[in-house]
Amino acid sequence: MEKKHQQSEMEKKARKWLTNRGVTIHDIADLVFYLQKKYHPNLTIDECEYNVERVISKREVQNAILTGIQLDVLTEKGLIEEPLQSILKKDEGLYGIDEILALSIVNVYGSIGFTNYGYIDKQKPGILEELNDKSSNQCHTFLDDIVGAIAAAASSRLAHRAANVE
Ligand code: MG
Repeated sequence: MEKKHQQSEMEKKARKWLTNRGVTIHDIADLVFYLQKKYHPNLTIDECEYNVERVISKREVQNAILTGIQLDVLTEKGLIEEPLQSILKKDEGLYGIDEILALSIVNVYGSIGFTNYGYIDKQKPGILEELNDKSSNQCHTFLDDIVGAIAAAASSRLAHRAANVE
């Protein structure tokens, strides 16, 4: 495994915000495992975590994390202007900008990320189910898509690496 890289302030912040919103690296690694286990029988959670870490070390991914979580938090506080406040609060299906923002993450490792992203968004396993629980007062309109996209991108990265060594 590669040496641990030096985290920028931006990366530290993005990681901290994810944790504050109840999402751990391990939660996202579980999603990667869910997506990839049938293709890589010897896959371990450690490998999944490693790939999630690499995805989060990308600047464009940190941008999406910070932007999305900021909008979720402002929505929770009721600080967004109407009509956007109600749209974000209700996580309206036709809004779609949350998915668009998440695509900036999926794009990082090429087009197979799209398939993984679409699939996991439909299935909503693990942490995605928790984030979609509308009974809480929290707003995760952007975060659920961001987490799914990080898992999809980490899966693509893992698949590309595996193809190169097998
Ligand atoms: Mg959403």
